[in-house]
Amino acid sequence: MIIKIVAAFLVFMIVMGAIQKWLNPGHKTPLDRLRGAKLPRPRKCSECGRFLLGGDSCRCKDR
Ligand SMILES: [Zn+2]
Repeated sequence: MIIKIVAAFLVFMIVMGAIQKWLNPGHKTPLDRLRGAKLPRPRKCSECGRFLLGGDSCRCKDR
């Protein structure tokens, strides 16, 4: 029963976000902000081009 309520709430949020985006495309919805917070822009090593995971320095510089 509670799962149904949560699912309905999620659908409602998604629909609201879609409507807001449709009304003013430049506006950022809370869903967009959440997405932006969860996925920071991945950084790449300037030396080897690998993605830097969990640190600023790359392993290629240690060797
Ligand atoms: Zn590197």
